[in-house]
Amino acid sequence: MSPSKVSNIEFDKFYNIVDGKQRGSDNVHHGINPSTGQENWPVPIGSEQDLNDAVEAAKKAFPVWRDTPLEKRKETLLKFCDYFGQFTDDLITLLCKETGKPRKFAAIEVGAIVGFIQYHCSLDIPEERIDDDEKTLYTEYTPLGVCAGIIPWNFPLVLSIGKVAPALLTGNAIIIKPSPFTPYTGLKAVEIMQEFFAPGLVQAVGGNNELGAQMCAHPDIAKISFTGSIATGKKVMETSAKTLKRVTLELGGNDASIILPDVDIKKVAPEVVMGAFQNSGQVCAATKRIYIHESIYKEFLEEMVTFTKSVKVGNPDDGDNLLGPIQNPMQYEKVKDFFADSKAKGYKFAVGEPDVATGKGFFIQPTIIDNPPNDSRIIAEEPFGPIVPTQPWSDLDEVIARANDTKMGLGACVWGKDVEKASQVARRLEAGSVFVNSWEKPTPQAIFGGHKESGIGGEWGKTGLLAFMNARVIHVYKS
Ligand code: NAD
Repeated sequence: MSPSKVSNIEFDKFYNIVDGKQRGSDNVHHGINPSTGQENWPVPIGSEQDLNDAVEAAKKAFPVWRDTPLEKRKETLLKFCDYFGQFTDDLITLLCKETGKPRKFAAIEVGAIVGFIQYHCSLDIPEERIDDDEKTLYTEYTPLGVCAGIIPWNFPLVLSIGKVAPALLTGNAIIIKPSPFTPYTGLKAVEIMQEFFAPGLVQAVGGNNELGAQMCAHPDIAKISFTGSIATGKKVMETSAKTLKRVTLELGGNDASIILPDVDIKKVAPEVVMGAFQNSGQVCAATKRIYIHESIYKEFLEEMVTFTKSVKVGNPDDGDNLLGPIQNPMQYEKVKDFFADSKAKGYKFAVGEPDVATGKGFFIQPTIIDNPPNDSRIIAEEPFGPIVPTQPWSDLDEVIARANDTKMGLGACVWGKDVEKASQVARRLEAGSVFVNSWEKPTPQAIFGGHKESGIGGEWGKTGLLAFMNARVIHVYKS
């Protein structure tokens, strides 16, 4: 099968990509540019028929790709990386319009696409051989077939390709469903990929939440790779159970950051602020609770406040902004609720205003709540916005228990000059990724997944490849 070659990539027209072709619809919706509140371009709302057609095309493309040697699959993926570079600027601009994130951070997300694919192409698929007197056991891993990736709105491009790269490398076909809030870069990246991959191998069908549910129910989809909220993750698992689909659930988090008393306060406080407010707090593994040793609490918080006041919030191309807006009106209202609740309960705003100023875009100034109680909403729930609580601690066992006292377990951070001691604390935290002396920086080099309600399974890195594969053991007895 040869690639389908959608030529003439345009950045102001958007299509679903089914069987190697652009597919529109009379039924369209729009994302909203969160910096301006204005509608972005129309995009087709994928129907169940579009999904069924995509699954049929994927079923045709899969066996050929599965039987393509791994080295050849890597070669194709790497050729795509070379070609992709010419679209970098257009994709950055598009990502800015759909998410509102500052241009330099949009550039990091677009740049991560090549990084993700190249790193995955450096991996080999695990295999194992065991010999004994009577037999040899070959443990091999085979692709699942047709996979689907359901994507949230906070990192619409890298989270799409973060599923496409391992799925294709391991020999699967994959259909991506972008979030209705941010359909643009995901659809466009898959359109660009058509130049290199056979029709049906990598497809995108954007639509509403119902389309996601239809994917989970589809009898010929073997796996759902889902990234999104815990509430939706539970629905995904329930619907997928009917066909015993494999699921990977990458869900929400309420990451704790523990600050040990020996830190360099001036150096670490701004870093901790960045961990909390990166992407305006709209990061699954952002720092969402900050525990500072009581001996340095006051000074550390003051440094955090000083740095936070220097953080500029605004339009993607406007000045040296570090933060953009909340991505969509629904999330904007949710985050404002945390402000209203903190104000109503009389919590202390160390920096930031209890009343969110309204304007054209969905902007919120980064805000720190000083020492709210353990049962406050801002401690117990994930705001997914630029508001974070700090609390003091004095006893290490107690603060570890406090950090672990949540149904979530995605990421965590520990900060301390004594790296050995900080690493020991890290090993006692119930989370999928724990960062010592860094804020949360997920990487394609390592599996990313959550403990407890933050998810099931994980993807990326060598271990993550197994999420797209079945184990098959060949038991060969000596004749
Ligand atoms: P969401 O759960 O509302 O939506 C995610 C995707 O699921 C969207 O594409 C949506 O259309 C689809 N969907 C909705 N209902 C569905 C259903 N019943 N069946 C199948 N699909 C359905 O999440 P969101 O608001 O887009 O994203 C924010 C959440 O995602 C936060 O909680 C954040 O922590 C989490 N997140 C997790 C990770 C991670 O890797 N763990 C990464 C980014 C975001």
